[in-house]
Order: sequence, then C-alpha cells, then structure tokens
Amino acid sequence: MAEDVGFDSQVAAKMVEELRSGFRKGRTAEYEWRVTQLKGLVRMIDERETEIVDALDKDLKKPKMESFLHEISLVRSSCLMALKKLKQWMKPEKVPSLLAAHPSSSYIVSEPLGIVLVISAWNYPFLLSLEPVVGAIAAGNAVVLKPSEIAPAVSSLFANILPKYVDNSSIKVVEGGVAETTALLEQKWDKILYTGNSRVGRIVMTAAAKHLTPVVLELGGKSPVVVDSNSDLKVAANRIAVGKWGCNNGQACIAPDYIITTKSSAPLLVDAFKFSLEKFYGKDPQESKDLSRIVNSNHFARLTRLLDDDKVSDKVVHGGQRDEKQLFIAPTLLLDIPLDSLVMNEEIFGPLLPIITVEKIEESLDIINDRAKPLSAYLFTKDKKLEENFIKNISAGGILVNDTTLQVASPHLPFGGVGESGMGAYHGKFSFDTFSHKKAVMSRGFGGDLPARYPPYTPQKQKL
Ligand code: NAD
Repeated sequence: MAEDVGFDSQVAAKMVEELRSGFRKGRTAEYEWRVTQLKGLVRMIDERETEIVDALDKDLKKPKMESFLHEISLVRSSCLMALKKLKQWMKPEKVPSLLAAHPSSSYIVSEPLGIVLVISAWNYPFLLSLEPVVGAIAAGNAVVLKPSEIAPAVSSLFANILPKYVDNSSIKVVEGGVAETTALLEQKWDKILYTGNSRVGRIVMTAAAKHLTPVVLELGGKSPVVVDSNSDLKVAANRIAVGKWGCNNGQACIAPDYIITTKSSAPLLVDAFKFSLEKFYGKDPQESKDLSRIVNSNHFARLTRLLDDDKVSDKVVHGGQRDEKQLFIAPTLLLDIPLDSLVMNEEIFGPLLPIITVEKIEESLDIINDRAKPLSAYLFTKDKKLEENFIKNISAGGILVNDTTLQVASPHLPFGGVGESGMGAYHGKFSFDTFSHKKAVMSRGFGGDLPARYPPYTPQKQKL
C-alpha cells in the first residue's frame, strides 16, 4: 500500500493499530504465512527484475551487473535460504535442564516480536529495504518498510509492486522523507531496524527510547584498508578497486574509505591502482558504463568540498575529473594525506581514496584505533603474525583479510557495526534472530519436590 498522501501521525497510528490487531490474531506467526510471503518475494524478483534494474539505473545509474550481483541476487538467495531453513529455525531449541528442578525440560522458543519498522537508505535501496524485511517475515512479524526518498524510483517501485506479491494487510510500504519517518517514529514498534547515517541513527534511537523499543542501527564510518609491503600489490589493487569504485562508485557503507601503507609501497600501489583502473574503466572513466553516478547534487557538492580542501587539492595522483551536470566524479587517488584534512575526518562515501603513508605498517593500528570503530576493516598481507595482531587489536563490525566487501555477502556471518558504526546485526539466521524474541521456557511435572526448598527453614533443613 502506498501511503504517500497526507501521511501523518494519525494515519500512522491507525495503520499500526490495524497491523497490531492482525498480528494478535496470530496469522503472521504461522509457518505457512511466512513461506507464502517469502515465495511471493522470490516471484516478485523473478517477474520484475527488469523493472528493478531500471529503477536502480534511474536512481543511481547503477551498472546492471552491480544491481544484479549486489542487490537482486543477494535478496533472492536470502529468501531461498530462509525458505529452506525456516522449519529448523522455528523449532524450539532444547537446552539442558536444571538439576535443582529435576524432573523438567527446558527450551528456547523463537517468538515473533510483533510490528517492526524498517527504515532504509538510498545507496543499496533494493537490498537494504528487502534484506531486513526477509528476516522480519521469516521471524513471523508484521512489517512496515520505509524506503529512502533519495532513491525515489526504487521507493515508488516498492509501493507499486510489493502489495501485489505479499500480504498487504501485514506488510506495508510507506513512502516519504523526514515528515513521514517522524510520524512513523512516534508510534510504538516492537523493533526498528534503521540503515543510514549516525546523525539520524541518534534521532531513531531517541524516538525508540520513548517506547522502550529495541533498535538495530546499521550505520557507516571510515572503513580502513591496511596494505602491508609483504603482499601481492597487484591483486590488492584489483580487490580494493572493485570494493571501492565497483560498489556504487564508493557510495557503499563497507567500501574502503582510506588506505594506510608504507612509504616504500605507496608508489608501487599507486601504479597498481592506475593499471587496475584503466583496465576496469578505460582511459576516460566518464565514458564507462560500469561506474555509478553520485546520487544527487548535495552529495556532489559534499565530495567536491572534500576534494577542494587546501590540505588535499594538490595531492591528487590520479583522477580528480568531475562533471556536475552528469553528477560524475572520477575514481580519484590522493597520496600522502594529512590526518587532519577534511577527507580524513568524515566518511567519504564516494570515489575519493586517500592514501596515508607510514614508516612501519604496525603504526596503522593506532591510526585506526584513534578513530571511531569502523563498519569494516581490511588488511592485505602475507604475514600471519600481522594478520593475528590486526584481528586481535582492531575493533570493527567485520574484518576481511586480503580482499574487500565480500564478507557482507556471506549469510553465515553477522552483518552489523560496533560503536559509532552501529548496533545489532542481521543476514542469514542472524536476521531471523534479530526479529525474534528468545523466550525461555521451563516445564515441570508435579513430582520431585525437595522439602528443603519450603519454609520453615529449620536448622535440620539448613544442614542439608
Ligand atoms: P538516507 O538519506 O537514505 O537516510 C536514511 C533514512 O533515514 C531514509 O529512509 C530517510 O528518510 C531517513 N531520514 C533522514 N532524515 C531523517 C530524520 N531527520 N528523521 C527521521 N528519518 C530520517 O541515507 P544516508 O543517511 O545518506 O545513508 C548513508 C549513510 O548510511 C552512510 O553513513 C552509510 O555508511 C550508512 N549506510 C550504512 C549501511 C549499513 O548497512 N551499515 C548501509 C548503507 C548505508
């Protein structure tokens, strides 16, 4: 249902009330209901793939291959995994019983939370909307999806097609921006999953606190890449380049934000990047069909401000071309960037890649730990000791060694941040768990009473 006209707090309250009364009837908790919705999503993806790709092209000029690999196929395989595993996930988990309560049995029931709200971001507008919805449905909840207004084509596609494939009385789409999201946030939800920047994350958490609603905040930050001299620089350059410019032209929460390498490796790494970039995007990257555009003029202005900072403007060693009309900024390498420059003090979220140089690679740990905890941290090395040290001493949402961004595609790893990069996690079974309450159940018969348990606590009983 598209709730795009006059959606205010009153309308939101009525919608939530209806959802809650539907939820109380227990329909969404049924296994069959969950399966039907998940199958509906798969059918929607299969039948509407071209429209989804077109909407992503309209919003972001996202290359078709990226749309398919990074958004559509990930959601599809999450649906298939949930369909395959749901019976198992829903089964009560038996746990050992307490000796003092013998005879008894104990188990954990995964219970739906109720009515959940998913607020999504613009950069992976299809994935970041539906991936949490898959988890919410699998766990048996009613769900409201609020897609990002900054990706309007995908948002309106959801509003138009989702109701045709899923139960519109328990799964709703509300389009809109700040006003509509504020109206939604005033309501009492049983969980909110928000993806976006940390400023709004704070607004979401404050609104949720009024109702004691738990939140998952999927935020961002500056994801570092440490490149040791003892590594294959050509492979490293390819894998960093595809994780940066091959992910929405750097507009990805897990995209490499900056590089730390040794002074001796830096020129070799820059050469390797130049080679990779020309191979991927040709001599004139603006001509390439494989690079997304900057999402809008606000973000274009933000990125050019970072590039025009006095501390970095003469440090461009590759790229730097921009075209405001086309919202195009070329893959850009910045070498020997001071730590107090603008580009090193906010999340870049675009095609600029600063390179920090150090004498010894071990210095990178302090540079990273002096900043907010990132969503991802990447290391390229053949040195197992350095790898161990990095994993032990860097706190990040996730770590990937000798590659970038792939960790996000594994349904077996939780995806989420820590500290400033967020709280809570989802993907695969973690999504099911995130949207479930783990209800502790113990069941006894009437035998097995120990007299010592009951007053009066006589001296004889106390001796036992
Ligand atoms: P955005 O502008 O699409 O905003 C996200 C959502 O917040 C939207 O649905 C929007 O309507 C809502 N919103 C905006 N202002 C609001 C307000 N004042 N009150 C209530 N709701 C409001 O996306 P963005 O914030 O530009 O996204 C980029 C950020 O998100 C980056 O920091 C990035 O790292 C992070 N991100 C994180 C993940 C992740 O999975 N961890 C994924 C993508 C992006």
